[in-house]
Amino acid sequence: MPRTLITGGAGFLGSHLCDRLLKDGHDVVCMDNFLTGSPDNIAHLAGHPRFNFLEHDVTEYITIEGALDYVLHFASPASPIDYLRLPIQTLKVGALGTHNALGLTKAKNACFLLASTSEVYGDAITHPQKETYWGNVNPVGLRGVYDEAKRFAEAITMAYHRHHNLQTRIVRIFNTYGPRMRLNDGRALPAFMRQALVGAPITVHGTGEQTRSFTYVDDTIDGIVRLLRSKVTSPVNIGCRDEISILAFAKEIIALVGSTSTIIHDPLPEDDPKNRQPDISMANRLLGWCPEVDRKEGLRRTLSYVLQKIGQAS
Ligand code: NAD
Ligand code: UDP
Repeated sequence: MPRTLITGGAGFLGSHLCDRLLKDGHDVVCMDNFLTGSPDNIAHLAGHPRFNFLEHDVTEYITIEGALDYVLHFASPASPIDYLRLPIQTLKVGALGTHNALGLTKAKNACFLLASTSEVYGDAITHPQKETYWGNVNPVGLRGVYDEAKRFAEAITMAYHRHHNLQTRIVRIFNTYGPRMRLNDGRALPAFMRQALVGAPITVHGTGEQTRSFTYVDDTIDGIVRLLRSKVTSPVNIGCRDEISILAFAKEIIALVGSTSTIIHDPLPEDDPKNRQPDISMANRLLGWCPEVDRKEGLRRTLSYVLQKIGQAS
């Protein structure tokens, strides 16, 4: 039975990974300091015989008793409003946290998987984005704290792979959504759904012509697990090709909810990428992966989660 450490395991993606790997028979050690995650995301796992939780900040030295087969490094603020309010923590977890997680992986002779991001491409000037594209990132811009932290994390992961012969994987995750997103995390989908449900104006940043390609969480998790089981050491994009403008996305959510909300435009944040769509031919070819949940179904499932959360809050 493999034993796996998931850093950031009490976050949105990390908690879904805990569920999936427990289902696949792993012994899971979840580590988190609740910087942006929540105990609620893993509450259902308390008492599970193969689940353990350790509260720890991974920018500090990590100690784990016993053997480990895999280390999945997901700890990091991920939403723009989080990393803008937590710039130093974001840089530290991408740099020091990744270094500690790699050092632990090496000591345990385990396999390391880094949660990287489409943000390493920055405001991309190629479209769709292939793994071979080196990116267009402003290192001193507000988003630079996240983008450069992840670019450093990729670089040190490859250094451990080349220099120490460590087994490593790098997944470049594109915008993922689904249950357990925080309703106030500032990302487009939870913001729009919450606004639509309470009849508040939908806040589209800029003209809304900027595009994103949204992937349902179960598909993203499946891509990550396939990558973990593969031997692919170069970065792999995991995301949906179904690209939509943010304005059209806002309208889609208003229609889904049956809301009377209007759309208002506020300023476009600095360095907000204009277009984003993954080239997923590598994931398709090497992992046999492609997303299965279309946006209509994914949004329907997410809406029932959001309704439940809002119901609990009122
Ligand atoms: P999240 O904020 O829900 O989860 C991140 C978790 O990391 C939280 O539980 C937080 O408390 C924890 N954490 C942060 N700093 C820590 C530290 N120093 N020590 C221990 N724990 C720490 O975000 P998410 O959306 O689940 O993202 C998870 C990972 O996936 C991140 O690395 C993110 O960069 C990456 N990613 C996510 C997306 C997406 O669409 N959600 C896209 C690209 C990449
Ligand atoms: N966005 C928006 N209104 C909001 C939140 C986000 O128009 O209330 C825009 C944001 O500027 C970006 C897109 O939606 O262009 C996706 O933003 P999100 O924070 O979800 O993800 P990211 O920018 O990291 O791709």
